[in-house]
Amino acid sequence: MIASECAPVAKVGGLGDVVFGLCRELEIRGNSVEIILPKYDCLRYGEIFGLELTLKDLWVPWYDRSVHCSVYFGFVHGRKCFFIDPHSEQNFFNRRAFYGQGDDDQRFAFFNRAALEFMLQTGKHPDIIHCHDWQTGLVPVLLYEIYQQLGMTRPRVCYTLHNLAHQGVTKEHILRATGLNRHAYYYHQDRLQDGANRGAINVMKGGIVYSNFVTTVSPRYAWEIMHTEQSCGLGHTLHVHRQKIGGILNGLDYEVWNPETDRHLPGPYGLATLDQKYATKQALRQRFWLRDVFKPIVCFIGRLDHQKGVPLITHAIEYCLRHGCQFVLLGTSPDSKVAQHFQGLKQRYNDNPDCHLELGFNEELSHLIYAGSDLIIVPSLFEPCGLTQLIGLRYGTVPIVRATGGLIDTVFDANHANKPYAERTGFVFNDFNAPGIESALGRAIGLWYNFPQHFRELMINGMRSDFSWNHPGQNYLNVYAHIRAK
Ligand code: ADP
Repeated sequence: MIASECAPVAKVGGLGDVVFGLCRELEIRGNSVEIILPKYDCLRYGEIFGLELTLKDLWVPWYDRSVHCSVYFGFVHGRKCFFIDPHSEQNFFNRRAFYGQGDDDQRFAFFNRAALEFMLQTGKHPDIIHCHDWQTGLVPVLLYEIYQQLGMTRPRVCYTLHNLAHQGVTKEHILRATGLNRHAYYYHQDRLQDGANRGAINVMKGGIVYSNFVTTVSPRYAWEIMHTEQSCGLGHTLHVHRQKIGGILNGLDYEVWNPETDRHLPGPYGLATLDQKYATKQALRQRFWLRDVFKPIVCFIGRLDHQKGVPLITHAIEYCLRHGCQFVLLGTSPDSKVAQHFQGLKQRYNDNPDCHLELGFNEELSHLIYAGSDLIIVPSLFEPCGLTQLIGLRYGTVPIVRATGGLIDTVFDANHANKPYAERTGFVFNDFNAPGIESALGRAIGLWYNFPQHFRELMINGMRSDFSWNHPGQNYLNVYAHIRAK
């Protein structure tokens, strides 16, 4: 597994959860899995056990010279992880941030080359290399164009698209940097040339073209990227390669996300002890100085990004406060305008005893909010899979989602779903506007106040549903078996 994130040591969003959870499931099923990550200075080192230097001198070709790297090994909650640490003046991974640097294209291109060089030097020839998103899109390109000739003939590549909104569009210097060179060859519409800007290199496109199988993180998103503007310019490439593309719904790690064993909660609760959830609600109120009143708590947890529906989140806060709810938000934004917007909201609601906005990244706190809330909103503009609604379901926190991507595959509307009542789990709305989200919020709040028994049934239906890694784990194994070298 080669990735830019792995929870909990390097997590920005769902990618980190998925890499950890999938690896764990594969190991439970008897496979041997090793994860290669950059050695960021902002890793949560306290979560790595037995970190030690495993390879002192790894020389990685880069432009017309070599960069000296060291490689560390450690266990992340039982997973075997290698961390690549380059010693160059660019300080690629000592930036106190995972992403958002002006030279991200170079940072991750270097990481791709270094990961393969490490595998070559240490004689690692796995059946499968699984990589993720644009940050590792050059892995299959480098494997098939350079490393196969050097003897790495065994591995086949599975490439997972978590989000087509970020494709790693860059320029020709990346070809020189990674040793691919041969500009005329790669600047071709069948290889790495960007569809919209013919002078640019598209790293994610390279990943799609060169890998043996491409998955995306829900069946619905797989359909959307093939048939709608969600393809973000990759429609032609996806169409050409449609025979090797499939949607596998993300799983949720039910060991990490389990209200019966969650050590971040004041006490456990589960289906048989659902009333204990309210102790958590009290703890959440205490933590944020919310008043103790008979009201539902609605929450939002996630990156505060255009994708996540900033105007609808903003509208929901106001609507909920006006309609008898309390509201809690946990999120961060790398975009300074969006960050400023939420800073403004935080100030506006600062003295409101029914509202708290926590602007930061805090894994532990997220558990308390998922568990202590009654409802969770996911009003995304687009959503490849989405994990926060799955965590909500697991914690008996009823999701309110927009009908897009993986949200459609995982939440079934209380009133309108084409499903038996026992399988309905939340509220779904279509239109990306204020009346759209109000239509779902209104129904949810109404049910909470007027039909508490029905609301409780929805909670229970959600807690009973299975979005563990069990099914997706098998699906990935089927893909691996399908592409393995015979
Ligand atoms: P995306 O991958 O687009 O960010 P997902 O819904 O797939 O969205 O995954 C988001 C993951 O990141 C969840 O595990 C969520 O709890 C976590 N998360 C997002 N923002 C924060 C935050 N500010 N603090 C703690 N956890 C967060």
